[in-house]
Amino acid sequence: MKKIGILGSTGSIGTQTLEIVRSNSDLQVTALAAGSNVSLMEKQIREFKPALAVMWSEDAAEDLKSRVADLGIKVLSGMEGLLELAVLEEMEVLVTAIVGMIGIRPTIAAIEAGKTIALANKETLVTAGHIIMPLAAQKKVSILPVDSEHSAIFQSMNGENKKRVSKILLTASGGPFRGRKREELLNIRAEDALKHPNWSMGRKITVDSSTLVNKGLEVIEAKWLFGVEPEHIQVVVQPQSIIHSMVEYEDGAVMAQLGTPDMKLPIQYALFYPDRRPMEGKRIDFYELASITFERPDTDTFKGLAMAYDAIRTGGSMPTVFNAANEKAVSLFLNNEIRFLEIYDLIQGAMENHQVTDNPSVDRILEAEAEAYEYIDSHRRT
Ligand code: NAD
Ligand code: MG
Repeated sequence: MKKIGILGSTGSIGTQTLEIVRSNSDLQVTALAAGSNVSLMEKQIREFKPALAVMWSEDAAEDLKSRVADLGIKVLSGMEGLLELAVLEEMEVLVTAIVGMIGIRPTIAAIEAGKTIALANKETLVTAGHIIMPLAAQKKVSILPVDSEHSAIFQSMNGENKKRVSKILLTASGGPFRGRKREELLNIRAEDALKHPNWSMGRKITVDSSTLVNKGLEVIEAKWLFGVEPEHIQVVVQPQSIIHSMVEYEDGAVMAQLGTPDMKLPIQYALFYPDRRPMEGKRIDFYELASITFERPDTDTFKGLAMAYDAIRTGGSMPTVFNAANEKAVSLFLNNEIRFLEIYDLIQGAMENHQVTDNPSVDRILEAEAEAYEYIDSHRRT
């Protein structure tokens, strides 16, 4: 029996992780955490019977506590609750499916307690990769990627000599606005950005996919996971989302992982690595597919990618500012408080305004996050 905990169980990755638990009887859910969706959390608790549940807000936790009073399970709230979940004795694997930098402290706590990490929460690696990767190495903890591209890269490196990697080819769908020019993005509304052509995901990452910020975050995520410098990571637009990413070796060979777009595969792969469990689902029909096409990303229009390369080249606390400014700008955009292109202006402004700290501690990362938020509060136009 493998005992897992899920940070963010009510979200897109969280609910798909629970689908995998449903079809694998040797997985057991020990702990669940979510933001505010009490009714879904109650359903999940009744079905999966974890020992601990955490809701971010105290009100939600109180509400949940009274709803599940008949079950005798422990209910906690806030960061304290997430940190207690992260080190839960009986839990072996923590699936980090929470959205945003809020995942940093629980992820670090789980690594310190020796838990295997199935990592979806890329914002944590983007901002604190310089702390997390060495800590994981020191504690001999595996960080198994759940992001589909990183899972593909990981699979394409199986059994290979990592020193012989010449390049990572990170694929991108191009998002819902691929092919459009700047003028055609002026009046984009949140509901337009929330229509991803191939993947159904949470709201924040869906907007990030439309700005190419997601691909930028993924370049930084790949740097930390695979120890490859950004100049050796090339983004290739592959609009059908069939090739999930590729690795080129020094002899010119390119290894890739292909499949239909379904996050359950990378989630399940992380949970059972190195095994490959059977999984139902649509298979690629190459006759029907007929062609897979490739393009160069339009980084002049979709500036998110170029900004990420700038941030990681500068290093230190700059990737935190890139990420934090984006988190804040996207939430304003989702509330229809700013326009689509203003997301880029706010990120760029916050980065220009920032005094870089090298090798920032967790406290300094969280300070830089707060500074980026303040910058945006005082500089947004609308
Ligand atoms: P989502 O918005 O669908 O779900 C987020 C989950 O986190 C929810 O359960 C929410 O309640 C919980 N949460 C949010 N704030 C919280 C808090 N303060 N305390 C406790 N729980 C909190 O997001 P998602 O699409 O599932 O994405 C989750 C992470 O996985 C993100 O980092 C994203 O970039 C990454 N990711 C997602 C996908 C995907 O297909 N959805 C693919 C690759 C990577
Ligand atoms: Mg991805």
